[in-house]
Amino acid sequence: MIRRSATEIAAAVNARQAAAVEVLEAQLARVEQMEPQIGAYLAKTEELARACARRVDERIAAGASLPLAGVPLAVKDNMCLAGTVTTAGSKILQGWVAPYTATAVQRLLDAGCVPVGKANLDEFAMGSSCENSALGTTRNPWDPERVPGGSSGGSAAAVAAREAALATASDTGGSIREPAAFCGVVGMKPTYGRVSRYGLIAFASSLDQIGPIARTVEDAARMYDVMAGHDPMDSTSLPRPAEPTAGGLRRDLHGLRIGLVREFATKDLGEEIDAVYQSAYRQLAALGAEIVDVALPHAEYGLATYYLIAPAEASSNLARFDGVRYGPRGNGTNVQEMYARTRAAGFGPEVKRRILIGTYALSSGYYDAYYVRAQKARTLMAGDFEKAFGACDLIACPAASSPAFPFGAKGDDPVAMYLMDFYTIPMSLAGLPALSVPCGFASDGTAGARELPLGLQLVAPLYQEARLFGAAHAYEQATRFTLDRAPAGLEGVR
Ligand code: GLN
Repeated sequence: MIRRSATEIAAAVNARQAAAVEVLEAQLARVEQMEPQIGAYLAKTEELARACARRVDERIAAGASLPLAGVPLAVKDNMCLAGTVTTAGSKILQGWVAPYTATAVQRLLDAGCVPVGKANLDEFAMGSSCENSALGTTRNPWDPERVPGGSSGGSAAAVAAREAALATASDTGGSIREPAAFCGVVGMKPTYGRVSRYGLIAFASSLDQIGPIARTVEDAARMYDVMAGHDPMDSTSLPRPAEPTAGGLRRDLHGLRIGLVREFATKDLGEEIDAVYQSAYRQLAALGAEIVDVALPHAEYGLATYYLIAPAEASSNLARFDGVRYGPRGNGTNVQEMYARTRAAGFGPEVKRRILIGTYALSSGYYDAYYVRAQKARTLMAGDFEKAFGACDLIACPAASSPAFPFGAKGDDPVAMYLMDFYTIPMSLAGLPALSVPCGFASDGTAGARELPLGLQLVAPLYQEARLFGAAHAYEQATRFTLDRAPAGLEGVR
């Protein structure tokens, strides 16, 4: 059963061809087998999973039909799951037990999902490789010498290695799309405000958004449909109802204008990768899309803008971790000393760097020069997209600047790591829905390197998630890059 898609598992469990408890036991055995190689999970939640699976079987026996009946789920460890340790990959939250469940996760449990464990991530979701996790190493299932991407690296690796059918992920500047691309799976960031952030440990609140990671577009669409919708517990949750998407999956792209971004020429990514993207764009045309040229003249300021706004918000959000309410507490003879020692020992270097940058950008005297200016650039970027979407229905571009890279490759250079998100950050700043779908393989040019998956990013105007999934499905079904090919050593599992 765990070789099947989430859609197939749910159908079998609803039809009582398989019990949720059996699916779960097979899934737990698979996790046991794979974890020494992959390390996708920071914690397993077997006990809770068994209780959930039993409850699903009872509900089905009582006549219920559940959209995600018995589907094994990995939960990114920056999302609260009541009664389980929730760390955000940080020592400052080690051992902290969540007192309630995030709305998005609760909706998945209510729909029949069974939570297998908490997935690894970069500390507080800050990073692009999972190497910033203070609590564990996750390996890329396509090449164990390489990172799974980040920050949702545990989520993407779990799904790629068949250690879960679905995973929750969060995206602030690319953290769903980049690891999905690196691991050859589908990852989707909804319109800002579409999925409730209640119970998500905040990084940059004006950008954070929860979304699905899955092996197929259809699975991701079904998962999104369950999570999306207004939540009174999140003040930025959109009041308008979310249009269901899974019913609108397409087989062709006739009638769609797809924009290629002038400023995102893939020649700079190297010959091999350029060829993969050029062939992806030709495939979009072959499926019936009209290819048009669009411009995002301010996209080049995306990284600079993001690395002011996101750290500014993070410095404020992370002020709450001071040893008083959450996690381990440092010693001190007075309260200032206690705060300082708690934070010095609890936060890793990247988190400290962001707090410093953010505090500086918000300080009086620099606020106008940095923070306010970044907000203005953000508005210009949103305007670019608005104009571009006057000429096209979707935008297509790369999901990341390279395939998965080796551990340590960006070690001493935070900016090299930040550059990974060049293609994803502008959409985050504009709040747009976007996804990554596998679009081929490349070896990244290093001698002896294995073939690594690449992701095609599709971007839609605000609220057009149905259009996004619809088109991605057509492309995925026509190309089937990772539907018929699994990472080496995992071939037995489709
Ligand atoms: N890699 C980006 C960062 O480090 C984005 C992370 C994210 O989307 N959470 O901030």
